[in-house]
Amino acid sequence: MRGKLALRGDLLDFSGTPLWQSRATDGVRWRPDHWLLVDDNGRIAGALPGHQPPGEDWQKMDHSGRLVMPGFIDTHVHCPQLDVIASHGTGLLDWLNTYTFPAERRFADPAAAQAGAALFLDSLLEHGTTCAVVFPTVHKVSAESLFEAAAERGMCVLAGKVLMDRHAPDGLRDDVAGAERDCEDLIHRFHGQARNRYTVTVRFAATSTREQLAMAGRLLARHEGLYMQTHVAENVDEVKWIAELFPEARSYLDVYARHGLLNERSVLAHGIWLDAEDRRRLADAGAQIAFCPTSNLFLGSGLFDWQAAVDTGHAVTLASDVGGGTSLSMPRTLAEAYKVQMLRGTRLSAWSALHAATRGAAQALGLDHEIGHLGEGAMADFVVWDWAVGAAARHRDAVARGEVPGLAAQDLHARVFAWMTLADDRNRVATYVAGRRH
Ligand SMILES: [Zn+2]
Repeated sequence: MRGKLALRGDLLDFSGTPLWQSRATDGVRWRPDHWLLVDDNGRIAGALPGHQPPGEDWQKMDHSGRLVMPGFIDTHVHCPQLDVIASHGTGLLDWLNTYTFPAERRFADPAAAQAGAALFLDSLLEHGTTCAVVFPTVHKVSAESLFEAAAERGMCVLAGKVLMDRHAPDGLRDDVAGAERDCEDLIHRFHGQARNRYTVTVRFAATSTREQLAMAGRLLARHEGLYMQTHVAENVDEVKWIAELFPEARSYLDVYARHGLLNERSVLAHGIWLDAEDRRRLADAGAQIAFCPTSNLFLGSGLFDWQAAVDTGHAVTLASDVGGGTSLSMPRTLAEAYKVQMLRGTRLSAWSALHAATRGAAQALGLDHEIGHLGEGAMADFVVWDWAVGAAARHRDAVARGEVPGLAAQDLHARVFAWMTLADDRNRVATYVAGRRH
């Protein structure tokens, strides 16, 4: 039985959607020096100004002068790929064959799968991420291990056994009937258990036959509330290959749509090489694109067009895509997202970036009643951050606060943007999941 917790710090979250490309604070909820109240059921009970502490029955943690934000939501990341993060010299298709597929074979071994899941989830927490949409491997035990490890930590994890019945090496292929049995068993045992959500996981169109894609669509139709995750239009060579494999489809995205895989619970990673019709279909379906800037830069995949997504009206969330991506840190991911958008002529605000990685992601996943903000009733998934680590970053923060003689104080956006650009896991002080410190 945990007690009631009151934690003092600078509370930052979102009550609404910030204006696109604007530094104005619309939708931003900024409560400097407040107590965040966490009830003994692991949910947020409210907030009080710093000078009005709650009563004696609340255990107090003083993080005055530190930033407190909702835990980040990473909408696309691969659990087994910590083995291959930072591997040199390949684009997507070579990278899969050279580095990723050999590493994923290791997860057939239950001991490796369990150790991998524990390392992965603990690493997410160390980086300030409390919820993620995760690819394990084709092996059933890799999904079991991930769900069990998430439940032990009280984390909200969306995942499912990877489906791959062709164009993958020995030891990494399933078949339609066996995969369907495994998925049914996993859905039965884990979907809605603890904070787990089962996610039908098609690696990408190239590694599933039409029969397997149809089976994935049947799973979604048969079980209410399942999620779907896959990759789409990441790399030019990949897009060409998909067009050869599925000549009947209008586009890469259409392969998924025609198999019943596109709905409001679909999370599609990358979406760099889409056209206007694809974007319109994403918007109509209520599906989201997980933008993975460090991966897109590292693998040379391309520059995601966020402005086109805003113009069309489909959701965009932020993701690390480790191991194509180079860091589990969401601040680092957001900083790279800003740079990619600058190359496209768009000035991404700190507000839009942070919103997309917290409340915006929760809304896109239909989970904003539970996560993504510090509002009353939400699960107490939040992170305490240092505003700055190291002399240079501390100086930059002092400039923003107007504490450096001769320089005028800057607005809140300037301070938070500098934090987002300079912060990483060294800034993280504590991660709370359902009110429990990790
Ligand atoms: Zn990926």
